Amino acid sequence: MIGGEHMPMHIASTTFGALLGAALLVAGAQALAQAPVVIADGGRSDYSIYLAKDAPPSVAEAAAELQRVIAVATGAKLPIVNEPAPAMICLGDNPETRRLGVDPAALPDEHFVIETRGRHLVIAGKDTRADQRTAQGGVSEGTYLGALEFLERCVGVRWLFPDTLGEDIPSLKQLTVAPLAVRDGPDFAHRALHSVGGRPEAKAWQRRMRVDAGRSAMRLSYNHAFHLYGMKDALKGRPELMALIDGKRRPVEDCKNDYLSEMKFCTSNPELVRLYADALLKAMDANPAQTMWAISPSDGAGWCQCPTCAATDEPCDWPGAGGNKSLSPRVFDFYNAVARIVREKQPDKRLGCFAYAAYNYPPLKAMEFEPNLFLMAASRPYYGYSLYHPVLSDEFNRLVDSWDERFHGRMGWFDFSVYVGPLRCSVGAPYPPGFPIMKQIFPKVKQKGWKAMFWAGLQVNGYGALSNYVAAKLCWRADADVDALAAEWLRRAYGPGGEPMGALYALLEKQLADYKRSFKVADGQLYQYRCVPDQVRAVHLPIFPQMESLYREALAKAATDAQRQRLEMFGDNLVILHWHLRKAGWLKTPETSLFHRTDEDFRAFAQKNYLSPSVRCVWKTPEEMLVPKLGETPVPVKRQE
Ligand SMILES: [Zn+2]
Repeated sequence: MIGGEHMPMHIASTTFGALLGAALLVAGAQALAQAPVVIADGGRSDYSIYLAKDAPPSVAEAAAELQRVIAVATGAKLPIVNEPAPAMICLGDNPETRRLGVDPAALPDEHFVIETRGRHLVIAGKDTRADQRTAQGGVSEGTYLGALEFLERCVGVRWLFPDTLGEDIPSLKQLTVAPLAVRDGPDFAHRALHSVGGRPEAKAWQRRMRVDAGRSAMRLSYNHAFHLYGMKDALKGRPELMALIDGKRRPVEDCKNDYLSEMKFCTSNPELVRLYADALLKAMDANPAQTMWAISPSDGAGWCQCPTCAATDEPCDWPGAGGNKSLSPRVFDFYNAVARIVREKQPDKRLGCFAYAAYNYPPLKAMEFEPNLFLMAASRPYYGYSLYHPVLSDEFNRLVDSWDERFHGRMGWFDFSVYVGPLRCSVGAPYPPGFPIMKQIFPKVKQKGWKAMFWAGLQVNGYGALSNYVAAKLCWRADADVDALAAEWLRRAYGPGGEPMGALYALLEKQLADYKRSFKVADGQLYQYRCVPDQVRAVHLPIFPQMESLYREALAKAATDAQRQRLEMFGDNLVILHWHLRKAGWLKTPETSLFHRTDEDFRAFAQKNYLSPSVRCVWKTPEEMLVPKLGETPVPVKRQE
C-alpha cells in the first residue's frame, strides 16, 4: 500500500464527498521518510499516553481505552501522563500536538488525524468540551473516534458484539506502527444503531462502534410528538380540536395511549395549529439548548375524518401504498403551518418530522416546504425485509430521489428494513443479516448527502450480531465493502467455523428473500416485520435440517473456546426453535436432532437462558419461554416497538 509519494486509498470523486469527509489515507512523503514506530515489544514499552490536564472527558476516555486494549494485546501497560514524554501517544488538542504540526481545531466535526511524527504518534480530532455543543446540537469527540480507529487498524481489535466474549483482541509480540498519516471522519453526522438493547454492555458496544446517537455531531428530535409539550393539558375541554372519528370527537381525557392512534388532532383547524405551536414555543423557551424539536403525528391510524381534513387526501399510485390514499398533504400542511409560526419567534430552531406510513410519499399537489423542517424518511412499506421484493427495491430508489428533490440537505433515513420484532412469535427463529438490502440503502443515502442514519438492528445477539456489526460499520462508511466486512467478522468470530456459518446465514437470506418475493406488493405479509407462525413454517421449517448440518460442521471446525461459545450463542436459538417446531408437531423425527431437548431439559434450558443476550428478546420469566407459539396454539398478540 505504501510505495508512492501520495497514495490516496479512497478519494471522494463526487461533489458531496468532500462535504462528508470521505476516508482519506495518505502516506505522505514526510511519513515515508520515517522508520516504523515500535510502541511495545516483548511485553515492554517506553511509551506514555499524553493528554492535557484539562482535556475533555472523551479524550480521557480515549486514553483509558488505548491503555486497556494495548495492555491486553501486548502485555505492556502504558502510563497515562499530563506532561510530554520522550516517546508518547499524543492525544487530543494540546500545545504538544500543535508543536508536532497538527491543528485539530481546523478539522470538521468528528474528524481526526492519526499521524506518526518522529518517535511520537499523534491521535487528535475535533473535540467539544463537556459544556460545549456542535452547531448541530451534538458533540464532537474526534480524538476518541481516532483512538478507536487506531485500535482497530493498528492493534487489530474487533468489537464483534456486546459483552466480553464479543471483544476480540489479538495477542501481539510487537506493536509496530508503520509511518502513517490518516485523516478520517464519518459519512453521517447522526449515527444511531437502535434495538441492540439497553444493557450497559450493549451501550458500551454502541459507543465503541461509533453508533451511539447521543454521542454524534448532530442531535435529532423527530419522533411521534402529538402528546408532548403539555398538549394533553392544553386540549382538556377542547374536544372540537381532536380528530373526528365515525361522527365523534374523542376528548383528550379519554386517551389512554399517548403515543398511538387515539392522540390524533383535527390538524386542518387553525386553532389547533396555533395551540400546538404555542405549546412548542413554550417548551423551547424552557430548554434553549435544544436545536431540533419533533412535531410528527402519533403512531397508528385514527386520522380525522372531518371534510376539511379529508379534502386534501390524494390517490396514491406508488406500489408500496397498496392502493390506499396518501395523507401527505394534510400532514405536511400541518408541519408547514407549525413551522411558519415557530420561525417568527425561533428562527434558528429546526422542526424534526417523519414521512411515514399514510404520509410516506411526497404529495402530488405542488407544495413548498418550510425551510426550518428536517425530514426523516421512515418508509413503513420497507420494514421487515420487504426490500427483497424487486418492485419495492425499485420504488426505494425513486422514493429517495423524490424526497431529496424536496428536502435536499435537510434529511435523514430511518430504517426498520432489516428488522424482525420477535415478540409476537418468540420461538428462537433466526433472521438473516439482510446484506442485499444494506448494500442498496446505505450507499444511496450517502450519495444524496443525507446527514442522519437511524438503523434498527436485530435484538437477538445469537443470530443478530453479524448484521448489527456490519450495519454499524456502514453507519460510519456507507459504501464500505459489505462482503469483506462479513467475511472478516465470520473469521474472527467463529474461526474455521466461519465458512459453514457464512453458508448458513446465506441460506437463511435466500430462503427469506424467496418467501418475501412470493407475495404481491399489496399483501400485508410482505411488510410484516414481526416473526409470525406462518413465516416460521414457510422460511425456517424447510431448511432446519440444512441449518443443523452447517451448524454441526462449524462446531466441529471451531478451534478455540471463544469460537465455540460464539457458535453456541447461535445454536441456543435453534434449541428454542426446535422445541417449538416439535410442540407444533412439525418435525418427523425430532429426537435425532442435535437441538432436541426433552421437556424437562428444555425447562432447565429456559431457567438458565431466558435472560441470556444470546437468545434474549421478550421473556421476563422462564415460564414465558415455555408457552408453545406455533401450530394450533393461539398466539398472544401484544403491541411492541
Ligand atoms: Zn379535521
